[in-house]
Amino acid sequence: MITIKEKKDCCGCSACATICTHHALIMKADKSGFLYPVVNKKKCTNCGLCEKVCPILHENEKRTPTYSYAIKNNDDEIRKKSSSGGLFPIIAEKTIEAGGIVYGASFDKQWNVKHIGITRKEDLHLLQGSKYVQSNTVGIYKDIKQKLQEGINVLFTGTPCQVAGLNCYLQKKYKNLTTIDFICHGVPSPKIWNDYLSEVISLYKLPIANIDFRNKKTGWKDYNFVINFVDSSGVCKKTADMVCQHQDNIYMKLFLDNYILRPSCHSCRFRNGKGGSNYTLGDYWGIQNYNVEFDDDRGISLFLGYDNPNSIPLYIRQHCTSIETPVEFAIKANPSFSKDWPQNRYYQLFFFLHNNFSLNIKNSFSICLNINKIANRLSSLKALNSIRKRG
Ligand SMILES: Cc1cc2nc3c(=O)[nH]c(=O)nc-3n(C[C@H](O)[C@H](O)[C@H](O)COP(=O)(O)OP(=O)(O)OC[C@H]3O[C@@H](n4cnc5c(N)ncnc54)[C@H](O)[C@@H]3O)c2cc1C
Ligand code: SF4
Ligand code: SF4
Ligand code: SF4
Repeated sequence: MITIKEKKDCCGCSACATICTHHALIMKADKSGFLYPVVNKKKCTNCGLCEKVCPILHENEKRTPTYSYAIKNNDDEIRKKSSSGGLFPIIAEKTIEAGGIVYGASFDKQWNVKHIGITRKEDLHLLQGSKYVQSNTVGIYKDIKQKLQEGINVLFTGTPCQVAGLNCYLQKKYKNLTTIDFICHGVPSPKIWNDYLSEVISLYKLPIANIDFRNKKTGWKDYNFVINFVDSSGVCKKTADMVCQHQDNIYMKLFLDNYILRPSCHSCRFRNGKGGSNYTLGDYWGIQNYNVEFDDDRGISLFLGYDNPNSIPLYIRQHCTSIETPVEFAIKANPSFSKDWPQNRYYQLFFFLHNNFSLNIKNSFSICLNINKIANRLSSLKALNSIRKRG
């Protein structure tokens, strides 16, 4: 049976809970809001299936992509809604047109992030756009297996660990399954996301109509974090917007400065192509240093493949503008492909203040920032003193 000795040894994919037919294993959130498996020893028969499907216990080999493209969707409206160059919707559309089903991350009614399957093009917008929260995949792998066994084409998109979890759960290759992961910085805590939203709602006193983590109104690189609200009469009309440059938004700072990532993201076993997906997508950061004309600051996707370099699907060429780029350049420009981000030194303090003293997100974060400022000043003073002593 699965035992998690250290938090970093579980990415929360839920393959173990899904395989356990004895209902002895459930996914439960810890104090930080991340899901971990919990075993009911009375029900467990020690069959070992949960260990067999755990992607952390069965790590894949490193893979170097065989090709890399910079790609932008020719439809500007689609590209606007997507976080990068709008490549995902092209591949998803193709799957749906062929009668298939597309799985990806969507918001639910309470703005939690979870995986869903869609079969209609009109619903594609639900999956478009990066949601910087760990998506809940509980139950999804079982659904996918059923569709695959029925012969339905399936496209699964998710983090590299979610793709690895799915492949481990399935235990065999299916010709009708395509998997896409993305270059992954790491996933933030669903609890902190919930608490942050509660604080926003109590400030604006209006229900939320839409959330866009990567609004491109001021550009793809200088993107905004935007929340739209519905008016107080309950009519779904956008009455007030919360628009912040991503560098100025507390939640985005907590994410990008590595205060609230899942512990497994700091020692990720799925970088370097180890997720095992067919394709890897990403933002093509640094494309301006390779081809300045290609970068219109409206979003460029990075497309990495691991198969025959000439096999980039024809429908992508038909709906997108693309240029081939050296794989080494693409990977170097996007460090998350191979590099872990270290946990912020105030990670523990942030969660301690927020969980134990019921301090809101803003105050917990500002205490961490102030302590950091004092620590930096003290270390500058110390350095100055030692220079003086030496002089
Ligand atoms: C948490 C997170 C961290 C990321 N880190 C990096 C990074 O460091 N470097 C980089 O280049 N790119 C990163 N990306 C990927 C990037 O932001 C884009 O999602 C990707 O390039 C696809 O863009 P697109 O325009 O083709 O697709 P879009 O149309 O924007 O579609 C978004 C796709 O991402 C999936 N998705 C969205 N949110 C989640 C989620 N929470 N969990 C699982 N799947 C999700 C959707 O299912 C969909 O397939 C990250 C994405 C996420 C969600
Ligand atoms: S060992 Fe078998 S019964 Fe026990 S938790 Fe794992 S899958 Fe369930
Ligand atoms: S990584 Fe996935 S399969 Fe392994 S213990 Fe965690 S949730 Fe279960
Ligand atoms: S950084 Fe690694 S462990 Fe974390 S979500 Fe991404 S793939 Fe999973």
